[in-house]
Amino acid sequence: MATFSEPLKAIEAIDYFLVLDFEATCENKVKMKPQEIIEFPVLKVNAKTLKTESIFHTYVQPTANPVLTRFCIDLTGITQEMVTGQPILKEVLEDFHKWMRDNGLLTRDVNSCFVTCGDWDLKTMLPSQCRHFKLPFPDYFLKWINIKDLYSRVTKERATGMPGMLRGLGLELDGRHHSGIDDSKNIAKILAKLIELNFSTQPTAE
Ligand code: AMP
Ligand code: MG
Ligand code: MG
Repeated sequence: MATFSEPLKAIEAIDYFLVLDFEATCENKVKMKPQEIIEFPVLKVNAKTLKTESIFHTYVQPTANPVLTRFCIDLTGITQEMVTGQPILKEVLEDFHKWMRDNGLLTRDVNSCFVTCGDWDLKTMLPSQCRHFKLPFPDYFLKWINIKDLYSRVTKERATGMPGMLRGLGLELDGRHHSGIDDSKNIAKILAKLIELNFSTQPTAE
């Protein structure tokens, strides 16, 4: 039975997955305005080998609300010391652009795509912070795969959160949930498993 839908077929053309999971300032049941990114991790995953070849990772100094709430520290495990004195988002975006360039991800013949858990990171969080602080928003952040959609397509099950997808695939949660770098690594594990499953159920020519 064919399991490749068109979006899955398109994944075959990707050379590198850029697995990304931001952490941001937060408060219990209250929306932070503006909400600011405090951890910015991206894994460069080779789409053929599914191995991580390079990691961009930094904590980010928030400027509108520089003091983290107790709730945020407890949720993310990110302490005040981990963000104080770190680069602000404007500098991080410049460093990230250099990392993209140095990793050959800005050349036309290399096809890369971000992978996130949900749409919040690149549809809401980064655009809203860039708008608020009037920072340029590079085009490469406009294209991403929501791993929850991929999970539903491949497993035919509804995706809940990251821990639920890991459980559904028989995978362990490594590290600490809500640590951006650990979440990214766990999302990369889910991605690798889904691709492996999808290829193993690929239709054979009849
Ligand atoms: P996650 O990638 O799920 O770790 O979450 C990303 C960000 O969303 C966190 O750094 C928080 O800013 C926010 N967030 C996640 N869960 C909660 C929650 N239960 N309450 C408030 N904010 C949250
Ligand atoms: Mg996340
Ligand atoms: Mg996270």
